[in-house]
Amino acid sequence: MVVILKQNGLPHGGLNFDAKLRRKVNPLGMEGICLTFFPDTFNTAFHTYNLLHKRAEAKEGTAMQENLKAGKQFLDSVNTMLRQTASDLKLDERYPGHQLVERIIIPDRIISFRISLQRDNGSIDVLTAYRVQNNNFRGPYKGGIRWHHHVDLDEVRALAALMTIKCAVVGLPLGGAKGGVLVPEGRQYSASERERLSRKYVEGLVYDLGPKKDIPAPDVNTNAQVMAWMADHYGKFTGESITAAFTGKPLSMGGSQGRTEATGSGVIMTLERHAHHKHIELAGKTLAIQGFGNVGSHAALKAHNDTGMKVTHVSNEFGCIHHAEGLNIPELVKYVALNGQQKLSAFPDAQVFEGDILSADADVLCLAALENAVTAQNVDLIKAPIILEGANGPLTAEADAMAVKAGLDIVPDILANAGGVTVSYFEMVQNENQDRWTRDYVLERLRGVMNKAYDDLREAARKHDCSLRRAAFLLAVDEIAAACDLRGAQ
Ligand code: NAD
Repeated sequence: MVVILKQNGLPHGGLNFDAKLRRKVNPLGMEGICLTFFPDTFNTAFHTYNLLHKRAEAKEGTAMQENLKAGKQFLDSVNTMLRQTASDLKLDERYPGHQLVERIIIPDRIISFRISLQRDNGSIDVLTAYRVQNNNFRGPYKGGIRWHHHVDLDEVRALAALMTIKCAVVGLPLGGAKGGVLVPEGRQYSASERERLSRKYVEGLVYDLGPKKDIPAPDVNTNAQVMAWMADHYGKFTGESITAAFTGKPLSMGGSQGRTEATGSGVIMTLERHAHHKHIELAGKTLAIQGFGNVGSHAALKAHNDTGMKVTHVSNEFGCIHHAEGLNIPELVKYVALNGQQKLSAFPDAQVFEGDILSADADVLCLAALENAVTAQNVDLIKAPIILEGANGPLTAEADAMAVKAGLDIVPDILANAGGVTVSYFEMVQNENQDRWTRDYVLERLRGVMNKAYDDLREAARKHDCSLRRAAFLLAVDEIAAACDLRGAQ
């Protein structure tokens, strides 16, 4: 058990306090955690301490308990996969005593802090924020920030570990991190509230971020505007205009051409490569997409514009629509931008689909909403023979095993949604070199990276006679372990 208390990024000297908190954190069963408290150590530390106790005492059947269970299930799935991979790779024999897999499973640092967000009406929302820095053996931490009512420490830990794996799979010189703010369910923040939240988040982390330390990007419910506010605030603290500290920024603030659509485009590029290997003609095939945010809508657009596929079903958290001949995706994108996600079901020229989108009669089901969307309870609904994972962790480990057993062909998240972090990396390279690449050049390079990563996975899957997901973990963990070994045991 290691608990290191830090104030403003520096070790905190209050030994009595340190010992007291250490004793109190220990009974909650957390291991190997470095908690960084900023900016007001005592208040923030007690906030975290209270939060941990709240987690431990969450009542059965409450939304918080359900959330905690889902987060824990997600983390357990990722950790099980990591341990299985370490065993397959015989890491303990190859690197005796180095505990390499534990050094991926246990994050380098967990940063937890309170945000007091002033609403436009003067009231205050007290929010819990996280940044988990999983591992930086291969390069600086990199990962998105999400604002959602499901955000939970275990969920953020799982997503941070997946980022470490993902960067290794596509060969980027980056480690893994993830951030999140737990926002109350149903809360719609105005633009000025979103701006204050962005700035407060950066204040809580300013000493932990930077182009050579940790570089956030957008994720669920955050976007280029949020990155612009964050980059601006970071610059105010550091006194320097360091655009490379955030990616997914607007073009006029050093963003990259092609970044907004990178994840969705990468998802479809991966499907195209998969189809090529499997001798499947995509033109005329049908596609159902769960989630119509950044990833889902851009995947839909690329599939519609470039592959000849028909996007027959689209769902979001408010409903599901379909059109047997294919939805008019460019019009649907404009419609949702204008009317909001809530109005998806009222899109003219489409029928409401009453069933679960998982049961859509389509050739490919793209899951682009949230983790744990497919569980042991609903995996049987899936009719599409190919599952394309745009979201992170959309299948629980149990559902994944059942889907594989049922013969479903799964193109895993770890590769399929790596287009976002890849173009984020391109953005960092452009920022560091004061360079601007054209959209065509960005997308051409993206395709090169995605195709090579896919081919490497397919070859590893053939060699080890395993799924693409297991192949991805095998390649990535091997690579990370090698970097860790080269760095030495310290
Ligand atoms: P987003 O906030 O832009 O969109 C999320 C979409 O999912 C919305 O349409 C929302 O209504 C929908 N949704 C939420 N709950 C749902 C439910 N229960 N059923 C159906 N739809 C639901 O988020 P995003 O950036 O598109 O991210 C989606 C997923 O992709 C997440 O898992 C995220 O971690 C992953 N991802 C995103 C990026 C990126 O660059 N944005 C990169 C890699 C992975």
